[in-house]
Amino acid sequence: MLIVQKYGGTSVGSIERIMAVAKRVAEAKKQGNDVVVIVSAMSGETDKLIGLASRISRDPEGREMDLLLSSGERTSAALTAMAIHELGFPAMSFTGRQAGIITNSLHTEAKIEKITGGLAIKALKKGVIPVIAGFQGITETSEVTTLGRGGSDLTAVAVAAALGADLCEIYTDVDGVYTTDPDIVPEAKKLGKISYDEMLELASLGAKVLQTRSVEFAKKYGVPVVVRSSFNNNPGTLVVKEDKDMEKVVVSGVAYDKNQAKITVVAVPDKPGVAAKLFDAIAGANIVVDIIVQNISSDGKATDISFTVAKADSGKALRITEDIVRELGAEEVKMREDIAKVSVIGVGMRTHSGVAAKMFGTLAKHNINIMMISTSEIKVSCIIDSKYTELAVRVLHDAFGLGEKRGKSGRKKGG
Ligand code: ADP
Ligand code: ASP
Ligand code: MG
Repeated sequence: MLIVQKYGGTSVGSIERIMAVAKRVAEAKKQGNDVVVIVSAMSGETDKLIGLASRISRDPEGREMDLLLSSGERTSAALTAMAIHELGFPAMSFTGRQAGIITNSLHTEAKIEKITGGLAIKALKKGVIPVIAGFQGITETSEVTTLGRGGSDLTAVAVAAALGADLCEIYTDVDGVYTTDPDIVPEAKKLGKISYDEMLELASLGAKVLQTRSVEFAKKYGVPVVVRSSFNNNPGTLVVKEDKDMEKVVVSGVAYDKNQAKITVVAVPDKPGVAAKLFDAIAGANIVVDIIVQNISSDGKATDISFTVAKADSGKALRITEDIVRELGAEEVKMREDIAKVSVIGVGMRTHSGVAAKMFGTLAKHNINIMMISTSEIKVSCIIDSKYTELAVRVLHDAFGLGEKRGKSGRKKGG
């Protein structure tokens, strides 16, 4: 078998952890597999580098950020290759450039365009274990790029797709994908398998266990992915195509995202073209808008428009909105950053009703006010005050009967 193994930040968070990873890689090789390893930066490293940059500039150039951030994964890749070598197995580390990971030029959020394999593939063919620095690539003009937070997952899935690997193993600090974040709800249950679509919703709604774009990629190319722990040998969670059994489960997970901000434009003139003008300007700045709510005006004169964006974009979105608002003659613009989105997800919602009602009722019972609602075929999301996030996740998880009594979990949290 050809196996791609990706190790996250906690899994390579110390020299001891890196040695343990090397042992696992060696084990897979000993069993006769070809192995390609992708590593994240050691835990906390990327945040540390971002912190250093922020002490110099409020808005550093994307190009410089990418060169800076790519260094974290280079370090862990080289150390991991050394550790595998120490165990008597041939291994070589490669940067994104050396592995031929070609991206577009959208710095800090680059998209992979193709993977040529570069030196890494040559090494693999010679029986060497390539250890590729995750999260990074190179543009056609040789600029270093990074793939967005959590981007090593994408490197792994994309490399697995390019090589036609039999399996892409994502090693992390939890035993698999749970019904919700096990850090918040200890009763959360590990899922044996989950469909690409549900995983996509869970990821995009905040469950960081897999990066959203990596799941999109896995779905598009049918890459078999398993999420499992690097701290034990428990079987993980398979991310696979939907099957009939999955529809029987109405809600399979609860997710939350505290990384949101809400902007409200108060008393906008109620006439055609207003929303188009506002959201054109926001889209023009490459800002993704999530939920939009527009009230119907009762007097035919003015209406409020609220929308949410990622916190990272909130300052820019606010400035753009304020400029437009002056032109439109709205009353004022307000922003709240103390909000969170909680969501329930399940492919069974396509064929079962009452999920939204149960969700609203559960939040109401705990006096949690809903500010905005958004639904799709397989999810319902509510924007709430962020101080109730953990409570909301717990009571929703309970209301939809997702939990289990936890026995010995084998779960161990790394640094
Ligand atoms: P890595 O560094 O290995 O990439 P991440 O921190 O990015 O790991 O992702 C793993 C974390 O995702 C877990 O520690 C857990 O707290 C969090 N998480 C959030 N939602 C879920 C979920 N539904 N299932 C499993 N883990 C989740
Ligand atoms: N090191 C990067 C991050 O922290 C990429 C990753 O870990 O996947 O976001
Ligand atoms: Mg991650």
